[in-house]
Amino acid sequence: MTDIKSLYYPELKEYLESLGEKGFRAKQLFSWMHSRLSGDFDEMTDLPLGLRDLLKKETRLVSLKQEVLRVSKDGTKKYLFSLWDGQLIESVWMKYRDWRSVCVSSQVGCSMGCRFCASGLDGKVRDLTASEILDQVYSIQKETGERVSNIVVMGSGEPLENYDNVLRFIKLLSDERGLNIGERHITVSTCGLVPGIRKLAQEKLQINLALSLHAPNDEKRRSIMPIARKYSISELMEALRFYFDETGRRITIEYALSKSVNDSAEDAEELSRVLRGLNCQVNLIPVNPVKERGFLTVSHAEAEAFKSKLEKNGINVTIRREMGRDIEGACGQLRRRHLEAVDV
Ligand code: SAH
Repeated sequence: MTDIKSLYYPELKEYLESLGEKGFRAKQLFSWMHSRLSGDFDEMTDLPLGLRDLLKKETRLVSLKQEVLRVSKDGTKKYLFSLWDGQLIESVWMKYRDWRSVCVSSQVGCSMGCRFCASGLDGKVRDLTASEILDQVYSIQKETGERVSNIVVMGSGEPLENYDNVLRFIKLLSDERGLNIGERHITVSTCGLVPGIRKLAQEKLQINLALSLHAPNDEKRRSIMPIARKYSISELMEALRFYFDETGRRITIEYALSKSVNDSAEDAEELSRVLRGLNCQVNLIPVNPVKERGFLTVSHAEAEAFKSKLEKNGINVTIRREMGRDIEGACGQLRRRHLEAVDV
């Protein structure tokens, strides 16, 4: 079965021509899928019935099913979607000023095993297709009735481990015949797969890259992120400088602050030294406590103190707005709770 929502426009045209259809049908079909956000061939009334029947037989039109929707006091929404094979993924919608951001998952589960994260507790089940990543955005835009302005690939999964599908997702999302979300409004977050960062740099996209650093030295990083055994911080910094040189895009460094783990004055000094010379912005995230993980978060005052220490060393720092904590906003929490509830 052809995954029709994952095809680029020229591929769709070629595919329809291979079925003996006229090329202009591609324009109609692409628009139905990626602009009018239809998840049902029967809605596509300007396509001949025969073609619709053929497409139903030959293709899979990925369309996610909403299983759970939780709405936070601050307006944040968390969705649990099921896929065609029954797998579950979660996505988050956040509203802030004029921004409507969607946080998408790139895999079912995650294989990276970061110690503080809920997504990796059961490992990775499979990669998501481009269409399954896209349809998180489409389903949410339809449900909220509001145009999505920003995308963060920060849900469950490691996007650079699912490189080709994530790239396809970005290109389809920014296609002017589709939702036309500009690359500058898309952020990809990685735990630090060095070859993936270098490859992405060479795509010369205008997207934002965020690196989950979370520790100021290799020893500490290895104790909380298994991937740090594979790539050192110095290799990472070199790859990030390369990314900046190739794209001109400033890097975001994510640093989840956890009490007595990585929040000391010494950690701030060491982090400042590591980041010297990198065009970056640090985003401090008070760690979101996950029941199974046992990491303690920091108070707002502690986060502010850490921020000032970095700022004294000339580093740009923000503290992440905490949204949706009351609805288990952290990666993988809702899916896991759901799996527990149905005892899988
Ligand atoms: N695999 C990618 C993207 C998904 S995780 C990555 O590692 O960047 C998105 C971000 O949420 C990462 O920075 C991740 O480290 C962070 N994160 C995961 N669990 C968290 C928690 N319990 N509290 C705070 N941040 C967390």
